[in-house]
Amino acid sequence: MSMTQTADVACTKCKFFDDHVAKAASEGLCRFNPPVSQPSAEAHGLWPVVSSNDWCGHFSADSRTAGTAD
Ligand code: SF4
Repeated sequence: MSMTQTADVACTKCKFFDDHVAKAASEGLCRFNPPVSQPSAEAHGLWPVVSSNDWCGHFSADSRTAGTAD
């Protein structure tokens, strides 16, 4: 079975998903890698924005949400 065949694989259910600075309810930040593309020394690095339905090969179930119904 591929990962796309299970409803349990989604960024919102991944331990690397961070929604505390999301601009929309269906978006959050992926914390798998360090921030990237820092445009200048004074600017902050950027965390990739992901949607609730996104997923990638680094998905790892969040033990805080695994097994709970949404
Ligand atoms: S992009 Fe991958 S690692 Fe990042 S939150 Fe989504 S599933 Fe997890």
